[in-house]
Amino acid sequence: MMQRLLFATLFSVSVITGGAFAAGGVVKSPTGVAPDRYVYYPGTEVLAKDEIRLIACGTGLPAARRGQAATCFLFELGNGDKFLFDIGTGSMANVAALMIPYDMLDKIFLSHLHTDHWGDLATIWAGGWTAGRTGPLKIWGPSGATPEMGTKYAVDHFLKAYTWDATTRNAKLSPKPGLIEVTEFDYKGENKVIYEENGVTIRSWPAIHAGDGAVSFSLEYAGMKVVFGGDTFPNKWYVKFAKDADLAIHEVFLTPSELVEWYGQSPGQALGVGTQVHTSPPAFGKVMSEVNPRHAVGYHFFNEEGTRYGIYDGVRSTYDGPLSLATDNMVWNITKDKIVERMAVSPEDAWSVPGSTPPPPPPAPGTVPDPMTDWIKAGRWEPANKAQGDLVKTFKKEHGMK
Ligand SMILES: [Zn+2]
Ligand SMILES: [Zn+2]
Repeated sequence: MMQRLLFATLFSVSVITGGAFAAGGVVKSPTGVAPDRYVYYPGTEVLAKDEIRLIACGTGLPAARRGQAATCFLFELGNGDKFLFDIGTGSMANVAALMIPYDMLDKIFLSHLHTDHWGDLATIWAGGWTAGRTGPLKIWGPSGATPEMGTKYAVDHFLKAYTWDATTRNAKLSPKPGLIEVTEFDYKGENKVIYEENGVTIRSWPAIHAGDGAVSFSLEYAGMKVVFGGDTFPNKWYVKFAKDADLAIHEVFLTPSELVEWYGQSPGQALGVGTQVHTSPPAFGKVMSEVNPRHAVGYHFFNEEGTRYGIYDGVRSTYDGPLSLATDNMVWNITKDKIVERMAVSPEDAWSVPGSTPPPPPPAPGTVPDPMTDWIKAGRWEPANKAQGDLVKTFKKEHGMK
């Protein structure tokens, strides 16, 4: 783990050129501290008013792997707002290790409805519900060419699929954090404002990816603009609306050869997926040369020895500006003066942290239908219940319960 982390850090620093600064500094004393670090320890730094902290919490692919979750970028702003852009499969384990109470993680923007971009909804929905979120989740997502291809349909049916989960939790927990509020916006909107509050403006425009209904986003705050492209073939909207962004995230996919060699795809499929459904490395570079961001971020590939150099060379054949090839837990602190890239270092066994608002009380007995029948209850084995008698008695005494 440490070895991989160290390598990722060194690599990420080595690909930075031009406008971004690596952390680090001269160590002047054998007993002193390093003036800056290559790492970010979650929960230990105050965010300045005009600063954006962006954390890659998922940068991989639909196929699961422990070292890299699927798409998720967390934006933390100096005004206290936090936004999750996509919540791909596996990403919530990275988010949960960042020492952020679930109450502060209730705003989610979805670029499209592939599982590698919203597959962890179940995790943040039910996990956050049990771990301290006090209100509903709020999701913003695109419409589709037909109602059933839109975000509202997807979330409605997600909740239907989890009827058993919600019904059984509702009997024991406050039902409020189990609600999801959906704001569905027109996927055809071109740089349209879909969110504007508290000095933050979020816009969307169409992406070209697998079917109508995928979008890209920009977030503007404190005079800066950060773009999250989601999944897309290079398109006229991104080139126009991402122009001169402070930081621009765009997918860059495995090369067709890598898809054949590493992902077991046939040459025909690899060429289609790698150059038509997604964005190839030279095409990514071409887009960034046109957009000319202060800093470009490519994501959406398993980032490792076997893949990254082919992708890097492809990007560099068409783009020579500041660049990160993202992997999970990469962090960018963005201000008007500089963009600093580091790696977040967080524990493998982090628990969620409580917020300042206690969870709402569970429903009063008898107010919610009991989802368990007497027939099942009659199967309880009482010797085990008796065996925990002392435990229950002591606990009640400790907490002043009757
Ligand atoms: Zn996709
Ligand atoms: Zn994807």
